[in-house]
Amino acid sequence: MASSEFIQVIIDLSACLGTAKCRGCIKVCPVNIFEEEAGYPKVVEENQDECTLCNLCMETCRPKAITIKKLYE
Ligand code: SF4
Ligand code: SF4
Repeated sequence: MASSEFIQVIIDLSACLGTAKCRGCIKVCPVNIFEEEAGYPKVVEENQDECTLCNLCMETCRPKAITIKKLYE
């Protein structure tokens, strides 16, 4: 499962439009959490803890396919 300690970034691929139509999350993330794989964005597991919680990916994602979970509180 997640290799992260603090933050887990989850993409609902059944809602995602696919990278042929949208590359929003890949483009906006300032710390490269997303990469492309086989026509869909994929979370780079080892980068998840670098997420700054800027929300840019969620704001840009029209189908609201991205969830960010804080594993601490
Ligand atoms: S922004 Fe949303 S719809 Fe677009 S590629 Fe990323 S997850 Fe898919
Ligand atoms: S919240 Fe910001 S830093 Fe975190 S995955 Fe989304 S765009 Fe990247």
